[in-house]
Amino acid sequence: MTTKSPIIVWFRQNLRLHDNPVLHAAATLGAPLVLIYIDDNTSHPWQAGEASRWWLHESLLSFESALAKKYQAPLLIYQGSPLIILQTLCQQTQAEHVFWDRCYEPYTIKRDTEIKAMLTKQNITIKSFNCALLKEPWESLNKTKQPFKVFTPFWRNLQKLPIRDILPLPKKFESLSYSSDSTIADCIPLPTIHWYEEMAKLWQPGETGAKNHLAHFLKNALNDYKTQRNRPDLKQTSRLSPHLHFGEISPVQIWHATQSCQAPQSEQTCFLSEIAWREFSYHLLYHFPDLPSSPFKAYFKDFPWKKSKTLLKQWQQGQTGYPIIDAGMRELWHTGWMHNRVRMVVASFLIKHLLQPWQEGEKWFWDTLVDADLANNAASWQWVAGSGADAAPYFRIFNPVLQGEKFDPNGDYVKKWVPEIAKLPIPYLHAPWDAPEDILTKAGVQLGKTYPLPIIEHTKARERALAAYQTIKQTP
Ligand SMILES: Cc1cc2nc3c(=O)[nH]c(=O)nc-3n(C[C@H](O)[C@H](O)[C@H](O)COP(=O)(O)OP(=O)(O)OC[C@H]3O[C@@H](n4cnc5c(N)ncnc54)[C@H](O)[C@@H]3O)c2cc1C
Repeated sequence: MTTKSPIIVWFRQNLRLHDNPVLHAAATLGAPLVLIYIDDNTSHPWQAGEASRWWLHESLLSFESALAKKYQAPLLIYQGSPLIILQTLCQQTQAEHVFWDRCYEPYTIKRDTEIKAMLTKQNITIKSFNCALLKEPWESLNKTKQPFKVFTPFWRNLQKLPIRDILPLPKKFESLSYSSDSTIADCIPLPTIHWYEEMAKLWQPGETGAKNHLAHFLKNALNDYKTQRNRPDLKQTSRLSPHLHFGEISPVQIWHATQSCQAPQSEQTCFLSEIAWREFSYHLLYHFPDLPSSPFKAYFKDFPWKKSKTLLKQWQQGQTGYPIIDAGMRELWHTGWMHNRVRMVVASFLIKHLLQPWQEGEKWFWDTLVDADLANNAASWQWVAGSGADAAPYFRIFNPVLQGEKFDPNGDYVKKWVPEIAKLPIPYLHAPWDAPEDILTKAGVQLGKTYPLPIIEHTKARERALAAYQTIKQTP
């Protein structure tokens, strides 16, 4: 393809300069580029939550400044209907081409298909690129050309497929002298509640932050990833999830950097298999677009939930009386992130101990996670619920005390996030109600006053959950 007319490059979830197939392709053509970001505020079911929008605000600022520094190119910011904005821009700039990165949420696919059809009718050429995945969801199919529903064969198959090389950074390109009336702050303002200020101290949204995180992880944590990745008290995972969600780093970059680092191959493979879980989630979402709202196993539709606003709130606020659950929920609120092991434990508690619909937990995570991601969130909630593809069996019900003792053996995680019980000795830290009165007094804990008593008793909750499951259980 050759063109001299301007190319509109619409960035969506690829906010990076390096290894960016859209930017690379557009820059190679030599035509002037119009670089844009659109905040699509037309109504759709999964508008980004507050934590995510904080990250997006910062990520766009970082991307805008990187584009200006490296290429003296402006990033034009718009808000509204992407179709109307693109039609107007094509007219005003005489652009005959629009390039974008592919997104895989059902709403986005439908919207993009409509935009493509409309613009094509107006003689505008649309080109879309895979910027977010190792392989497109339709490239990984089983022997009968069907989507995978089980992770292990999906992963085995992925390991056999060629992964493309990292693309070089465009040396230069010309950008059209053009401006928009709005700024990042107008379209994606910072949340009015200042709770994000704590998150700002912990994270560095943007491509540089992503690169630093990856380098730090490969050097300092990958060697022990297999054995330590389940420990929420240690920083043994990569914390790349928000960077990956916003496309500040590509899985292709992570793949190659991991394979060429010093860590033993078994550690590399273990870490890359987690990246593959992300691919699997996207695969599931693409082929089963109802994943965020409906159980993958249809018989879970009849599950006898016991909806309670009070219980949901106690869970959201980290006031359940189970220290590991409360620590996780408070970590989430304060940092916009939660360790994977704890995500599994708190999700299991909400669904199985409290019998609250998994969709309620999914919504809360959506609003509070900086890495909120439709594919990963939906697939993971369904995995824990037992209603998903290749899910944990429903009858596997985590005991929150044992999970705490096993994965937070020194209690450091609980002490950090639940300071009101931090003075309890280790044997009672994960089950304060077992502590004798004098030990509670010495630690300054008054159960029911300074820290809640458990909102539900574990053994009873377990039996109730199993009984509820029996009412819908079907033989596979
Ligand atoms: C109930 C629940 C909800 C979740 N919601 C989200 C979400 O909204 N967004 C999100 O990115 N992850 C979600 N996860 C998956 C996982 O918890 C996070 O990806 C992980 O904790 C991020 O930390 P990390 O980057 O340090 O992970 P690492 O262990 O360093 O893994 C590297 C990358 O692999 C991917 N990954 C790791 N584990 C999983 C997994 N189980 N499923 C899919 N991808 C995975 C992530 O992109 C992650 O950044 C959820 C898990 C559960 C149990």
